[in-house]
Amino acid sequence: MALACAGLTVSCVAEGELPAIDEDDGAGLDAVADVIADDPTPEPGLGDRGEEVAQAHAYLKRYGYFPNPALEHLPGWKPVFTEEPADPEVFDEVLAEAVVRFQEAHGLVADGTLNAETQRLMAVPRCGIPDYYETPHARKGGSNYNTSGSTWGSNQVRYRFRSFTGDLSQADTRAAIAEAFARWGGVTNLRFYEENDAEIEISFGAGNHGDNWPFNGAGGVLAHAWPPGDGILGDVHFDEDETWNLGGGAGLTDLRSVALHEIGHALGLNHSDDTDAVMYAFYNDPKPNLRYDDMLGIQWLYGDRQTLSWSSSGPLAGKHCVQIGEGSDPHTWEDNYFCSDQNIGAQWSMAGPIAGMRCTQIVEPLDPHAWSDNYLCVPTNSKWLFTWRNDGPAAGNSCVHWNEYADPYTWDDNFLCGVSLPWPW
Ligand SMILES: [Zn+2]
Ligand SMILES: [Zn+2]
Repeated sequence: MALACAGLTVSCVAEGELPAIDEDDGAGLDAVADVIADDPTPEPGLGDRGEEVAQAHAYLKRYGYFPNPALEHLPGWKPVFTEEPADPEVFDEVLAEAVVRFQEAHGLVADGTLNAETQRLMAVPRCGIPDYYETPHARKGGSNYNTSGSTWGSNQVRYRFRSFTGDLSQADTRAAIAEAFARWGGVTNLRFYEENDAEIEISFGAGNHGDNWPFNGAGGVLAHAWPPGDGILGDVHFDEDETWNLGGGAGLTDLRSVALHEIGHALGLNHSDDTDAVMYAFYNDPKPNLRYDDMLGIQWLYGDRQTLSWSSSGPLAGKHCVQIGEGSDPHTWEDNYFCSDQNIGAQWSMAGPIAGMRCTQIVEPLDPHAWSDNYLCVPTNSKWLFTWRNDGPAAGNSCVHWNEYADPYTWDDNFLCGVSLPWPW
């Protein structure tokens, strides 16, 4: 496995809104089902022995139902059953009970048999993170996400590449990974940077690729990732025996979709029971957009995306607000506030820019009152760069409408627009 290091330059993942990508309901899963339907396997019964039994045993062991040394380094992981069947080729009651737990975990009829539906699901490519690897947590109503119990202590997370796939250009791989990071960053305050010194290391490898948690050739496990922490924890590994591309298709795996899923693990999410979620364990068709359940999960771990807002009726509860007034304006500006979800250190001045701060003049040329020396200031190292506009919001910015309805002057198209500067700011 070749080692290719990221460049020394710091590059920031674009954090603007990403376009929704249409996903076709392609025939990936159906194709797998057809193969199985054309070749029906007789269902083994209790006491039966055979290759199907051995395969089911190996499958359930790989995904955490039985003790498995390859999974023991996952923090907090425990097998579903403390002992595995005595003979891996015999369908005994322990194996039947494990099949029940597998069926329950994935919404199948839980009859404990290796019926066609169960075998069909076992044939679908998936993530290598085991089933039932989760920690209890408070969930918002109706959500299905799970968490690993660890998160990064910072909202700025760095990543680097240890190796690349031979299936795509490095530029395409970098873009796919950056897009996946940006989608998680788009719904939180997380920001991601490709740097040489990084928490998250990304690599492509086949078979036993250095962490004693081997991949299994084409199909089956597509990738796995470690939950946040030191050393190998937080790292993302893709199975180089898959054929990676952008967009998926028969025999091809969409890197964007799998990267989005695995980065979810590297940020502290575990599998979701919601079959629609990106964090669902199985890869059917490309799913390059976050779903509602994924957003609830990542926001539970890292908080909502920081937003700017305006109030004409006093400070907003739970937000950090700065009163925006003009002492000589006879209109009712005294209960107007500019607010942010987190404290951005903003200060308001009615006497020119504040020395040592980065200030934006707030003015309405048609307003005859003394707004000309009013400034909103932020610390010089603030990540926010504000511009003031008298002609509506600026595309691609986070814009706040500054308005006082009782003011007869033309404040109605005045906006404070902010962009986050590339790190380090
Ligand atoms: Zn996974
Ligand atoms: Zn690995």
